[in-house]
Amino acid sequence: MNLAQRALGISPSPTLSIDAKAKKMIAQGLDVINFGVGEPDFDTPQHIKDAAMEAIQKGMTKYTAVAGTDQLKQAIVAKFKQDNGLDYQPGQIVVSCGAKHSLYNAFQVLCQPGDEVILPAPYWVSYLEQIKLAGAQPVIVNTRQENDFKLTVAELEAAITPRTRLIILNSPSNPTGSVYTRQELAALGEVLVKHKIAIISDEIYEKLIYDGLEHVSIASLSPELKEQTVVINGVSKSYAMTGWRIGYAAAPAAVAKAMADLQSHSTSNPTSIAQAASVAALTGTQQPLQDMLREFNRRRDFMLERIRQIPGVQCRQPGGAFYLFPDVSSYFGKSYRGRVVSSASDLADLLLEEARVALVPGIAFGDDRFIRLSYATSMEKIAQGLERIAALLDGIK
Ligand code: PMP
Ligand code: GLU
Repeated sequence: MNLAQRALGISPSPTLSIDAKAKKMIAQGLDVINFGVGEPDFDTPQHIKDAAMEAIQKGMTKYTAVAGTDQLKQAIVAKFKQDNGLDYQPGQIVVSCGAKHSLYNAFQVLCQPGDEVILPAPYWVSYLEQIKLAGAQPVIVNTRQENDFKLTVAELEAAITPRTRLIILNSPSNPTGSVYTRQELAALGEVLVKHKIAIISDEIYEKLIYDGLEHVSIASLSPELKEQTVVINGVSKSYAMTGWRIGYAAAPAAVAKAMADLQSHSTSNPTSIAQAASVAALTGTQQPLQDMLREFNRRRDFMLERIRQIPGVQCRQPGGAFYLFPDVSSYFGKSYRGRVVSSASDLADLLLEEARVALVPGIAFGDDRFIRLSYATSMEKIAQGLERIAALLDGIK
């Protein structure tokens, strides 16, 4: 059977593949430390699980409205009002099977062949594939480490052509952890409004933010920006609910309707039980989130301090998410026991095979001078893993 051209062009998610490989090695009894996947290691809070069990007992086990239950959409509307100062009607909200699915729907209804989509790099793995799946052309714009990997107005302006249709912004960012300030977003927003470029703003790490930094949604900066933006968010990261698969989008009514119509022919509604659980996540106590955040902060500080002690590794302080994104390029051109290291991919292979540490090479995010380490794992594992990394790097001459 021949595969369609569309399928031939897809590469599998490298973050998920590395996680699968690490988990397989662990299942085989190998002592692997997994800094690979971006998934909170905490359990879903009890009150959220209870809400799911109650939903099952109450018989909430049938199809719901395609774009989500009224209750969940109301909770999302309230969240946007309270956290972001954004006023949406329930008809502007579409709940999907994870933020990844919300993003997919958004690219599908906004892009077509011939459109260019500006993708600041380093970027999260699935944006590139989803842009291509929508038939559009990704225009990758490399940001600079000196600018904290944030797109500047000059870089944005240089990338715009008459075919530019859309830009994807992600703050706090996966993989860099960078957080855009209000002023930076306002400056980019001015250019985007002037050129009428639509924005997909992926705010899934909104709550995972440190150092007193403020999360700002670009949609909240002006009525024009709100009309041009699809905001993406979800419960996976903030509430340790990756397996429940609930993400959501807020968009101008016509865009939301198109996304819901598309979804009505693919997945229909996301799981009814997971929707009930998500109402509890958004409207219930936020204490578990605060506890998780404090722990992530502690781990980030520890990991950052330790990694900066390794000679030749440079690492900025990330303000959000749960990743470090150190520059390891000073090791390139050297070798470990006769094996030449010429990229972060080579280094990631070496670390997994020789030191039993899984992490994601920067190639997955469009820059192979870096590695991404997730600190969504225990302090003990972080300490052990960093010792292993330091020992292996010490052997590179
Ligand atoms: N956006 C970013 C930047 C992410 O890191 C993730 C995590 N996989 C997602 C979207 C998707 O999250 P989910 O589908 O689990 O809601
Ligand atoms: N967002 C997470 C990561 O980057 C989960 C994996 C994925 O969905 O690709 O590791």
